[in-house]
Amino acid sequence: MSTHRRRAVVIGAGIAGLGAALRLHQAGWEVLVAERAPARRSSGYAVAFAGLGYDAAERMGILPELVERHITPDRMDYMRPDGRTRFSVPGPTVRALAGDRALNILRGDIEDVLYAAVTGRTPNTVEIRFGTSIVGVEQDADGVDVTLGDGTVERADLLVGADGLHSATRRLVFGPEDYMRLDLNHMAGVFMLDTLPDGVEPGVTASLTDTGRTLAVVSLGGDRAVAFFGYRTERPMAELADGPRVALPRAYGDMGWVAPQVLTQLPGAESVYFDTVSQMVADGWSRGRVVLLGDAAWCVTLFAGYGSSLAVAGADALGAALERHADDLPTALREWEAEIRPEAERKQRLGRQVKGLYAPADPFRLWLRDLPLRFASYRPVSALLQRRLQLTS
Ligand SMILES: Cc1cc2nc3c(=O)[nH]c(=O)nc-3n(C[C@H](O)[C@H](O)[C@H](O)COP(=O)(O)OP(=O)(O)OC[C@H]3O[C@@H](n4cnc5c(N)ncnc54)[C@H](O)[C@@H]3O)c2cc1C
Repeated sequence: MSTHRRRAVVIGAGIAGLGAALRLHQAGWEVLVAERAPARRSSGYAVAFAGLGYDAAERMGILPELVERHITPDRMDYMRPDGRTRFSVPGPTVRALAGDRALNILRGDIEDVLYAAVTGRTPNTVEIRFGTSIVGVEQDADGVDVTLGDGTVERADLLVGADGLHSATRRLVFGPEDYMRLDLNHMAGVFMLDTLPDGVEPGVTASLTDTGRTLAVVSLGGDRAVAFFGYRTERPMAELADGPRVALPRAYGDMGWVAPQVLTQLPGAESVYFDTVSQMVADGWSRGRVVLLGDAAWCVTLFAGYGSSLAVAGADALGAALERHADDLPTALREWEAEIRPEAERKQRLGRQVKGLYAPADPFRLWLRDLPLRFASYRPVSALLQRRLQLTS
């Protein structure tokens, strides 16, 4: 077995990238993470974190810190446009639905925990470089040269493309995005609110769904809250090109409830997430010394509610495969993909199956969607919901 310390360049400091940095560090690798954003961002939406990701977080030693950041709604209120409540699901029912080994956590908090774990190691063999992107890749039998936007060329044994749905690594090595992106004809927008809108109680998650669109406000305690927008569209790329400040007021301007109050906070929001809801369908996640991880590889979408979990699980499995086959990268990457792909494809199927639930096309479908939720505290109904949403494996 060779004794040289292996080196990886990871593109993207999201959950997948930081997860890979942590796990490769644990496997004895030296890691450089290149992140396009100028600094750490802590904003984000609340995500469910469970299943393989939960198990992986436990193995990686970060579960206690994640558990500390767990937030759980006191209640979920389903609203009418005039501000009256249609029905509520009590907090204990929401928790029971999610199952025991599951967390509800801000996406940015998962990143924070991973970042602290990566940077808090001694000796530290992980460098994180902000404000730089990938611009070129050349590989040969002995290594891969990664050219970064800051002009440096970094030689490594492995390049991990963890740069999200619109991955530049994937474009450079695997080809144009259009051939692999499956649009599910919805848009998602998220931003942090400075002020909790009147009509949403602290600690409550409240949402209004009308024809083809949903607005949810997740209260995080105090005045802090997250606004989530999800709506149907036949022209996702055009919506994306218009951007959130044009597209969201256009789609929600006439919605009623707290939509006007929320939209007033949009121009001043520090960072707004706005993207198409799309899956990545690639028939292989590695080419030589380049491997894709997280949304760059498989994006299962928010409809599956599993992207963060899968990003951490994928990072852990990658580290484990590289430990098993320290001198045989092709075998390590092949085994890794064989382990993760079935779960990623299962969650992609779920995402396609349930996409109609997020913003039902008409009032009847909305009524049908809500029927099981109204009775979610009854055991047979909650068991049905858990099976349908793959909340238990
Ligand atoms: C509204 C919403 C709700 C969701 N809900 C859930 C849920 O309930 N449960 C769940 O598990 N998942 C959920 N997800 C999915 C989850 O957030 C992602 O799947 C997960 O965060 C994995 O992300 P990633 O690290 O692969 O990519 P990203 O989070 O996109 O991170 C990519 C990183 O790469 C950086 N980057 C991009 N391009 C470059 C470049 N060229 N050079 C350098 N850096 C670059 C970006 O700045 C970013 O930091 C949800 C997603 C959305 C949008």
